[in-house]
Amino acid sequence: MALVERRTGTLHVEAVSLTDIAEQFGTPCYVYSRKALTEAYNAYCEALAKHNALICYAVKANSNLAVLSLFARLGAGFDIVSGGELARVLAAGGEAKKVVFSGVGKSHGEIVNALRLSIKCFNIESAAELDRINAVAGDLGLKAPISFRVNPNVDPKTHPYISTGLKTSKFGIAYEEALPLYRRAAALPHIHITGIDCHIGSQLLDPAPATEAAQKVLALVDTLAGEGIELEHIDLGGGMGIHYRDEAVPSVTEYLAPILRVLHGRKEQLLVEPGRSLVGNAGLLLTRVEILKHGSAHDFAIVDAAMNDLMRPALYDAWHDIVAVSERNELPRSCEVVGPVCESGDFLGHERMLAVHEGDLLAVMSAGAYGMAMSSNYNSRPRAAEVMVDGAQAHLVRKREEITQLFAGESTLP
Ligand SMILES: *Cc1c(COP(=O)(O)O)cnc(C)c1O
Repeated sequence: MALVERRTGTLHVEAVSLTDIAEQFGTPCYVYSRKALTEAYNAYCEALAKHNALICYAVKANSNLAVLSLFARLGAGFDIVSGGELARVLAAGGEAKKVVFSGVGKSHGEIVNALRLSIKCFNIESAAELDRINAVAGDLGLKAPISFRVNPNVDPKTHPYISTGLKTSKFGIAYEEALPLYRRAAALPHIHITGIDCHIGSQLLDPAPATEAAQKVLALVDTLAGEGIELEHIDLGGGMGIHYRDEAVPSVTEYLAPILRVLHGRKEQLLVEPGRSLVGNAGLLLTRVEILKHGSAHDFAIVDAAMNDLMRPALYDAWHDIVAVSERNELPRSCEVVGPVCESGDFLGHERMLAVHEGDLLAVMSAGAYGMAMSSNYNSRPRAAEVMVDGAQAHLVRKREEITQLFAGESTLP
């Protein structure tokens, strides 16, 4: 579904107008749709209906408790990368036994806590981490369920900052090193080998790289079985792309079809770790034009959201559609849509054709993933509010940060 719909000239999310949301909760403000989130999750359920599968939502894409609790109630598991994310999952009603723990630098404390809570699996990313987890599990008198994150060395053909499955990546274990590491793990007393995983990158629109990765992973699974190391699950990671601009986005069913063909008839449980594709198109960033500035080369629409609220344009030069909430019957002009932060990289969009006045509202689309989750307090800006629309109701699911919260943990010298 499209997240927004124009009714009598004004953009709505479900049955709520963005003008009303701005009035009630202020700007900048993230707005999510319960319906869009649910539909995105259900698309995975349908695509995977014939498989013994667990959808582990990648929490880092959007970790708001309302989003997590919605997915938990729909039956999701979770892919986490920190103890903080594990705490959020549990606070939102998620189950530890459906949690997989990824990340290259899990700390001693994070491992202890996750072991005590009996998570489903640690996705191990190095030999040193294997030894660390074995030792910690030994101290606790437990066995740690583990999988290795293998780098199948396929090029996902996406932005280099979100490409993670190449040999040169800091993530995962080189394909050639996986077999010896599995053998070593099988001999460790406090390790229980349960799976294998890979995650080759993000914003992938062509299923070919992930299909090739799945083939390479399956070849390893079969080699391992030949040595008596039987795996219970195969985790193919996340990475499916979404709509930002004009890209041809396959449906989840279309994207997964060639991958599921490769997996046909396998007995292992299938795990996937989608992040962006569950939340990205289900959220927007609502912002108000503060100042219109006519520069010599461009016009600037200076808005009240900035790179600290939505970092993707500054970080990846990412495109987000920017749409006027209420239409004006005027000719649009080319605008640089920028925030108030003191950086030239602080922009939300270049050369956007908009007819706006000061005080007008803009919706920055496709901002549900890696938006609020990557926000910061740079320039001592309080973080935005978050609102979840459910039918005709808008729920505040995170209050706007207050200025005093910004330095609440700080102190002056005595
Ligand atoms: C970030 C991440 C994901 C989610 O990626 P998306 O592109 O948002 O689907 C899944 N698994 C791992 C290990 C990740 O680091």
